Amino acid sequence: MNATAPAPHPGTTRRRGILFVLSAPSGAGKSTLLRLLQNEPDFEYSVSCTTREPRPGEVNGRDYHFLTRAEFESHLAAGDFLEHALVHGNQYGTLRSAVLEKIEAGTDVLLDIDVQGAERIRNEQGPIRDALVDVFLMPDSMATLQHRLQKRGTESPEQMALRLRNAAAEMEAWPRYAYRIISGLPEEDATNFRAIMRAERLRSRNQRIL
Ligand code: 5GP
Repeated sequence: MNATAPAPHPGTTRRRGILFVLSAPSGAGKSTLLRLLQNEPDFEYSVSCTTREPRPGEVNGRDYHFLTRAEFESHLAAGDFLEHALVHGNQYGTLRSAVLEKIEAGTDVLLDIDVQGAERIRNEQGPIRDALVDVFLMPDSMATLQHRLQKRGTESPEQMALRLRNAAAEMEAWPRYAYRIISGLPEEDATNFRAIMRAERLRSRNQRIL
């Protein structure tokens, strides 16, 4: 240690980033929650790759990296994905390098991925698994979910039926997550998620000096 660099105060340690994973069946209020969380961006949102068509208003590189099937396959073949899954008939995947670099640089990362993707990360070993804090957001009932999906009106009747069928199966996965939030008003969901973030950042194991 040189004379100009005093020993770090325990309150100013540089820590490893936390990997917050949020899963929810479609219509549970996840997009609204993500928007509210991004009003106070003290984390980086991980932009996934997908072969799904962009919805009106979605921006390439901000909401998703919209890829052709061939582009997706070439990332897959190169082993670029930390996890990937087929969801509602489209491919989705998270690029490993982006997540790992941020975690190691001490930046908290937020991943919005489905239950299959979350399970893949739970099965990881090493820094990514150690950084994982997984949260499941779900509605109080299937009726609420159906109502919300109908109100959103972005899906065709066939897509909606598929999403509802998938939702019932996905919701069975909630006990696998460290935290569950039953969705209420958007601000309540955001307060609950923020409480999780705050508590996790205060955990001593998450404040180790790198
Ligand atoms: P949407 O098409 O409505 O944007 O997303 C559909 C589902 O795909 C959501 O449950 C979302 O969490 C999930 N998803 C988005 N990105 C990824 C990803 O990179 N990996 C996985 N496994 N799921 C994803």
